[in-house]
Amino acid sequence: MTTVSTDLLVIGKGPAGISASLYAVRGGLSVLVVSRDAGLLWKDAAVGNYFGFPGPVSGRQLLEDSWANTARLGVSFLDAEATGIAPETDGSFLVSTTAGPVRCLALVIATGQARKAPRIEGLDALTGRGVAFCTLCDAYFHRGKPVAVLGDGAFALHEARELAAIASSVTLLANGRTPSEAYLDEARSRGWPVDLRPIRRLEGQDTLTGVSFDSGDSLPLSGLFIAEGMAGSLSFAVSLGLETEGGALKVDRRGATAQPGIFGAGDCVGGILQLSVAVGEGAAAGISALEYVRRAKKAHGHPD
Ligand SMILES: Cc1cc2nc3c(=O)[nH]c(=O)nc-3n(C[C@H](O)[C@H](O)[C@H](O)COP(=O)(O)OP(=O)(O)OC[C@H]3O[C@@H](n4cnc5c(N)ncnc54)[C@H](O)[C@@H]3O)c2cc1C
Repeated sequence: MTTVSTDLLVIGKGPAGISASLYAVRGGLSVLVVSRDAGLLWKDAAVGNYFGFPGPVSGRQLLEDSWANTARLGVSFLDAEATGIAPETDGSFLVSTTAGPVRCLALVIATGQARKAPRIEGLDALTGRGVAFCTLCDAYFHRGKPVAVLGDGAFALHEARELAAIASSVTLLANGRTPSEAYLDEARSRGWPVDLRPIRRLEGQDTLTGVSFDSGDSLPLSGLFIAEGMAGSLSFAVSLGLETEGGALKVDRRGATAQPGIFGAGDCVGGILQLSVAVGEGAAAGISALEYVRRAKKAHGHPD
């Protein structure tokens, strides 16, 4: 797949991501917004506490109008899931997405609330003891050993690819769900067994030893990687060594993380999980990203 290049990549087209992209594009940056879906506000029928309206306003209408406005200003949109972020030696970032890689000078992470862990007996007790949420951090501990990935989407396949280079075997666990044909095709082509059976519990006292299924059988494992839903701010943060606090990406008042060039805004940075806050934080992150890219371009002798 060809690599797309942009000044700023925004992950998420909810209020925070769109607000960030508005400031960046009006400041002259090329901006690409990658998103898997419309985000939380799409689920909401009426928003009654947002500035500027005489009565409740439809969340969907707000989103659609905002997308139209940013597109009019020149922001590009990509319907895809971002699965990983890798810093490059020249200071740029290579972001893997289900539609191909994107290279950017700066990033705003506006992925909404972190994905939830599945409710399986033994999961809490064995997290950090064989159960992990990030291959970049923990795959190393399972060199030459059998591992499994729990999930049924693009992020699960991404994690399986990372593990396949290290582990002795990779099994995909769907926990009673039915993955898409594309998912099953990739698993088949790479020789990864897909186990569809519902999981009853995770086995092990101090460390994970395997999973047992409702059918009564068990699968011995050294590691279980949880990759349900999509990669969110937490998995990006952990893989980049960024600080998190209470399950949220840690940023300063201007939306900056500790990694130069990476900014965060909205529900994924915690605090008050509201539309008006997400819009304000998006503005701060967008302005910070704009200033950062201008400085980076100047340092490399690019015209403004
Ligand atoms: C039912 C409901 C009602 C609500 N009502 C109100 C209200 O009345 N007033 C109010 O102020 N707030 C309300 N909220 C809260 C408000 O919707 C959120 O605070 C706001 O949407 C947060 O915006 P955000 O941009 O941070 O995240 P979101 O709107 O959740 O957007 C996140 C975006 O990130 C994308 N994304 C995530 N991970 C990835 C990935 N790996 N790759 C690509 N894209 C990714 C998603 O697809 C989405 O586009 C409500 C929330 C809900 C659920």
